[in-house]
Amino acid sequence: MTFTPATIRVGDRDMSVSPLFTESQIKARVGELSAEISRDLGSAEPLVILVVLHGALLFAADLVRGLTMPTEIESVRLKSYHGTQSAGTVEVVGSLPDIAGKRVLIVEDIVDTGRSIATLKERIAGLGDRGPKVVRVAALLDKPEAHDASLVPDYTGFSIGRNFVIGYGLDLDGRYRNLPYIAELKAQG
Ligand code: 5GP
Ligand code: MG
Repeated sequence: MTFTPATIRVGDRDMSVSPLFTESQIKARVGELSAEISRDLGSAEPLVILVVLHGALLFAADLVRGLTMPTEIESVRLKSYHGTQSAGTVEVVGSLPDIAGKRVLIVEDIVDTGRSIATLKERIAGLGDRGPKVVRVAALLDKPEAHDASLVPDYTGFSIGRNFVIGYGLDLDGRYRNLPYIAELKAQG
């Protein structure tokens, strides 16, 4: 069993770690999403799986194994800048893969404010006639209460509240991505 402490120190406080979704719940839900995506986008034409690094690595790896259409796996990295006051801006790191005329499924770990996905979609829209034919979004987790960009993923694994979550690809300062389950961090006391 993977070791997880009962509490994790974040800044100057201890947060409790409570399991939110087990490994088997995640497996079952990801299987359902693969089946749904295969039904909706089933075709002899390849689907480009655009993995948003690094958070969506584990989700994408499991999701693609359940897809029945041919796929091409590509990735993109997004960088957020958090100012002291502003909620931050997002930038696409480097260039996008060649997706001209293709069908694309963006695979993201979590939609929080929605700015990351909104920025990526704008960047894709900006490709103009080098743009894809179809763009869909699959997010393992969604925090609807936190959205400030109006965005509903086409495929959502689980909708959750505002608490910070880790595991199954999701990190805290680069750590805990390898946890096979998803846990929620809560302020203690
Ligand atoms: P957004 O641009 O939608 O606000 O945020 C998206 C990114 O912020 C996600 O792709 C993820 O990297 C990070 N993020 C948002 N909420 C959480 C969370 O609860 N846990 C972790 N580990 N990352 C989060
Ligand atoms: Mg992310």
